[in-house]
Amino acid sequence: MAKTLKTSANGRKCAFGQCKRLLSIYNHDAYCRIHQDQVAQEQMSKVPYHHVL
Ligand SMILES: [Zn+2]
Repeated sequence: MAKTLKTSANGRKCAFGQCKRLLSIYNHDAYCRIHQDQVAQEQMSKVPYHHVL
């Protein structure tokens, strides 16, 4: 019986539209490293500054 390590499923692909990169089982994010950054920046830039309550 193999002890399950804390890894993600094998063979997952980056969730970014056209990205075909396979994610490492040690990468628990939905995106590859490149798109992690890109998506994070896009989300930040989408936050409407004038909409802060
Ligand atoms: Zn990607």
